[in-house]
Amino acid sequence: MEVLEKLRILSDAAKYDVSCSSSGSNRKNKKDGLGNASSCGICHSWSDDGRCISLLKILMTNYCIYDCAYCINRSSNDLPRAIFTPDEIVDLTINFYKRNYIEGLFLSSAVFRSPNHTMEMLLQVVQRLREEENFNGYIHTKAIPGADEEIVEKVGRYVDRMSVNIELPTEEGLKLLAPQKNKQNILRPMNLIKTGITQSIEERKKFHFSPKFVPAGQTTQLIVGATTDSDLKILRLSEGLYNSYGLKRVYYSAFVPVSNNPKLPLIKSPPLVRENRLYQADWLLRFYGFEAKELLDENKPDFDLALDPKCDWALRNIHLFPVEINKADYNMLLKVPGIGVKSAIKIIQARRFSAIDFYDLKKLGIVMKRAQYFITCKGKYYGIKSMNSEIIRNQLVTSSPVEKNYKQLSLFDQVSLEDKYIEIGGQL
Ligand code: SF4
Repeated sequence: MEVLEKLRILSDAAKYDVSCSSSGSNRKNKKDGLGNASSCGICHSWSDDGRCISLLKILMTNYCIYDCAYCINRSSNDLPRAIFTPDEIVDLTINFYKRNYIEGLFLSSAVFRSPNHTMEMLLQVVQRLREEENFNGYIHTKAIPGADEEIVEKVGRYVDRMSVNIELPTEEGLKLLAPQKNKQNILRPMNLIKTGITQSIEERKKFHFSPKFVPAGQTTQLIVGATTDSDLKILRLSEGLYNSYGLKRVYYSAFVPVSNNPKLPLIKSPPLVRENRLYQADWLLRFYGFEAKELLDENKPDFDLALDPKCDWALRNIHLFPVEINKADYNMLLKVPGIGVKSAIKIIQARRFSAIDFYDLKKLGIVMKRAQYFITCKGKYYGIKSMNSEIIRNQLVTSSPVEKNYKQLSLFDQVSLEDKYIEIGGQL
């Protein structure tokens, strides 16, 4: 099989891993034009210093010995299969890099022959890139659950980031849909990577030239909606992963119905609104000081899809509001819907000079269509007369309706700049 055909199959297969998103465009350069876009899985990611970088995003192979019901690459699925040799991946990466198409490689793989065999092949790729080609670009690879620790450890010495995909939030889910996998095989490499990162940081404090180990940290992916697991279960798991394994990010991927296996839910399209609510809640865990148990509980285990999780929380805790914007401390300001991390800092700085009023808040970038119901400025309330959560909820839902056909955020959609800013800047 030609390398280009392999590239077509294996970059397309990689799009289900959401750690980065494929561009998917195919546009040739024109006369006097600048640059082009090709469909071979170039995607964007962020390096540990915060730069946005273009990556070649491919699977090494989509031949898989496992038969996970939710996965397009499962062994029982009849689809075109391909496998790259380590040399082919090295050549592609170097050639794309020299042409300035990419700044790095995102290399994942299905499980070919055995976890160890697959991990050995990944090792050959990264070892050659670093040692023979002196490639200094960014590399993100998978750690294959079930592979020996020594191989995972060796790979970690060459790459910037590693990820072990948990996919299903509970052991029961794994038993039902991916019986060849188990929780321990997934958590073991995760723990190994965490320990390696901690040791490497300690060693480098003493010996500056000691080798780095996965310097951009580790991530994982959870599939949303393939099982009956609640948002509470998913969020608790994410919280545990951040606290116990020091993960950089947990990515959520709405289940794409790629199979009619009766064990899977009958849905026509991926639950993208739910995926978005989980991303917003994840943001609240990482930057706003919330805990999973505050956002959801056993009586309310799933988010209200019509509202963002912070508004949902505020309405269930309406007795804490309204807060006086000139007196509330930083942590309380962060809990007000419409006030983000940057805005809370700006409020604290601005009110040192004079008391802030409603119009000042607009200038500071606060999303007033949400915040107005939860604050007072110089003692004055600008929301609706009663602090009734049901009435406020109706106002909030009417002012920000969830699109019926919810789709991925694009910079080119016809929506207001304010909403765009909220989505991108995370002013929840
Ligand atoms: S092991 Fe990975 S690639 Fe193979 S079927 Fe399961 S999820 Fe898909």
